[in-house]
Amino acid sequence: MFSLLHRNDLVIPERSVKIMFGPKSHLTSRSDHLFMEDVDCFALAQQQGTPLYVTSESRLRENIRAYHRAFPHADKYFAVKANGNLTLLRIAAQEGMGADVFSAGELSVVRMAGIPRDMILYNGNSKSEKDHEMAILAGVRMSVDSREELEHLAKTAKRMGREAEILFRVNPDVSPKTHPKIATGLRSSKFGIPAEQVAQTYQRAMGLAGIKPVGLHCHIGSQILDTLPFAEAAGKMMDIAAAVVALGGKVHRIDLGGGLGIQYHPDLPAPTPDDLAAAVLPIFQDRCRDLGIAPRLILEPGRSIVADTTVMLTTVNVVKRAHVNFVAVDAGFNVLARPMLYDSYHHVVVASRIDAPAEETYTVVGPICETGDVLAKDRRLPALERGDVLAFLDAGAYGFSMASQYNGQPRPAEVLVSGDQAEVTRRAEDASALLAGQRILPRLMW
Ligand SMILES: *Cc1c(COP(=O)(O)O)cnc(C)c1O
Repeated sequence: MFSLLHRNDLVIPERSVKIMFGPKSHLTSRSDHLFMEDVDCFALAQQQGTPLYVTSESRLRENIRAYHRAFPHADKYFAVKANGNLTLLRIAAQEGMGADVFSAGELSVVRMAGIPRDMILYNGNSKSEKDHEMAILAGVRMSVDSREELEHLAKTAKRMGREAEILFRVNPDVSPKTHPKIATGLRSSKFGIPAEQVAQTYQRAMGLAGIKPVGLHCHIGSQILDTLPFAEAAGKMMDIAAAVVALGGKVHRIDLGGGLGIQYHPDLPAPTPDDLAAAVLPIFQDRCRDLGIAPRLILEPGRSIVADTTVMLTTVNVVKRAHVNFVAVDAGFNVLARPMLYDSYHHVVVASRIDAPAEETYTVVGPICETGDVLAKDRRLPALERGDVLAFLDAGAYGFSMASQYNGQPRPAEVLVSGDQAEVTRRAEDASALLAGQRILPRLMW
């Protein structure tokens, strides 16, 4: 029986298929424990302590390769805000990904990870003069978010005697059906230049010293479970490309952003990169042919690359029978903010007794001093006790990257699993991290 359960072996017990739903072959149940590849997650939690983020290297590589297969001629820029772990970025670089960065900090991390400057896009709706200088010095392309930013950037580039290659962030006015806080392409969103202003802004940029406009960029939102909004955005981007070409502009790059959703919930399947390709490539290719242009297509996936690679392990401290059954664990919204921020669902399994039947309904809460510190509501789980380890699945995107030290909680460690190896890629903070950079003012010392 055990021999059937080797790494990458597709034969997994029927029970775990039901538990994990979907093709999550990096997660299996063996001897009543959750395994990631060949690593026992419960044993790992005992050894490293919790909370703990644990990522499967093979799953990460496979997710990137699925994008390469679906879009063999496009560049894929990993959206670093989804997960800024240096080792994971190094793997993304090895697998041929570029990076979408939103700050000077993210830029330095991806350069350190070895992502080539030609494969980096520096985004942002609120860049300072220093941000512009840093991007120019680093020699990376920028996405310009407004007509106003264009003028600021031109001044800085001219003063530095350099030329900045830019794309324009377009607000395509597309409404994806997703949580309102992560819909970014609505007319009312803070991002991008209104579609009808873009061609003229492009023309203005063509005449500015220090500026070289090379393309168009959009990003309509996140956790989008339908490919239609992507097709709509692609069509609108091609309309704008046509208007730019009509004014004499050259469009070398069209960046359609990220946003492809993943299957967090058993009942909410997500489109694959192949589905996305089927929705947008025909539009992109036909319209480019009509216009007689051959721009490079760029995508910026974050969540769909990294979310399902990672579980967040947390230990049960208290099981309290009150007006509902509460399970208080050692991770709260300080560790995993998505449930509180976006009402997100993360599937929960018991890493220490994965095959036990569900007997109780629990609300899983964290240790933070806020009523809103709820990680999972009304979940059917086996009867739990102190010391059990829960695994929150699909925690690789906007998980650690949104973690905070709120309530005096140092941030947790991150581990990379490869086969039977488990290596710490970021050590857990200790209490000294809470004091980092602080001092007591000398005049208050006595
Ligand atoms: C957040 C973001 C992405 C990634 O979105 P996902 O939903 O994680 O794929 C890509 N591009 C831009 C500009 C973003 O802001």
